[in-house]
Amino acid sequence: MLYLFDIDGTLVDTGGAGMAALEQATREIFGQPGPPLDLAGATDLGIVIGIHEHFSIEATPERIAAYLAIYQQRLDWNLAHGGHPGRVLDGVSSLLEELADRPHATLGLLTGNTAGGAASKVRHFGLSAYFPFGAYGCDDPDRKRLGPIALARAAAHAGRPFSAAETWVIGDTPKDIACARAIGARCLAVATGRFDAGQLEAHGADRVVESLEQAADWI
Ligand SMILES: [Mg+2]
Repeated sequence: MLYLFDIDGTLVDTGGAGMAALEQATREIFGQPGPPLDLAGATDLGIVIGIHEHFSIEATPERIAAYLAIYQQRLDWNLAHGGHPGRVLDGVSSLLEELADRPHATLGLLTGNTAGGAASKVRHFGLSAYFPFGAYGCDDPDRKRLGPIALARAAAHAGRPFSAAETWVIGDTPKDIACARAIGARCLAVATGRFDAGQLEAHGADRVVESLEQAADWI
């Protein structure tokens, strides 16, 4: 089985370190606050393009790279010293430990974070070792297009292809569910983000749990 995990609201709560880093990068580059951001299930690339649109400035690859470089610096500082008390969400550590022990389980990330942002977050919370590959929010602005990238990287990592039927996407938003659907995979939705169990069910998750503490019978 292949298990593709979202980060924010699923594995960890960064205590706002990521949102603050976006706001800081926006202020630093544009000299004023940006638009209100809806981060739930969004990709960082999509967010950065949206911020440029808000200021009617073309989001060239150079501008995106410059923005993300500042974002990365702020994120790392915020995680280390920024007074954003984050945490690994309930049940995550034991679930990852159990999956990692299984000979036929392959774990990866499927996240809207940039590769650098994802690495910083999982490293900060001590989860890096579980996630040798991933598809990231710098690969495509549309989360629904990250699934095929994740499958390709999983195949390269494991040395064999994975079918949709043996793939689970684990996430906390309707966009994670749509992302799973787009590749024909199943979605375990967890209500530790902004959406409650009823909302996640209504969006067609295959399984819904209140927290990953309840994932034992799903495994
Ligand atoms: Mg999330």
